[in-house]
Amino acid sequence: MPLYCDNCFLAFEGERCPSCGRKKCREAKDDDLCYLTEQNVIWSGLLADVLKQNGIEFVERNVLGAGLAFKTGMMSERVRFYVFFSRLGDAETIVEGLFSAADEAPEAEDGADEDSEDADGFPEI
Ligand SMILES: [Zn+2]
Repeated sequence: MPLYCDNCFLAFEGERCPSCGRKKCREAKDDDLCYLTEQNVIWSGLLADVLKQNGIEFVERNVLGAGLAFKTGMMSERVRFYVFFSRLGDAETIVEGLFSAADEAPEAEDGADEDSEDADGFPEI
């Protein structure tokens, strides 16, 4: 029986919470909200649709990527998904099916590494 950390909203196997390290965790119950995954805004919309289609209740929580928000705007916003423990297995299967093909996609698309030091005044002829 998996344990549940109500500090991290995490169901896990083993003795201690892999996220915060807490040892005294109780057994997971069917109505515990469990962390499922974190996705960008685009994928989260798709995932929400599929979860609904499968009748899986979920909770979304928006998180802003610290520091990146100004640079990339909406694209840096992330959405965390939580589902009830009773449906966690089903939801994980859906997530794997949806994202296994896409998990090679790079997180940040273009680095801001363009040099602009070649404008020193010597005109090219
Ligand atoms: Zn924890």
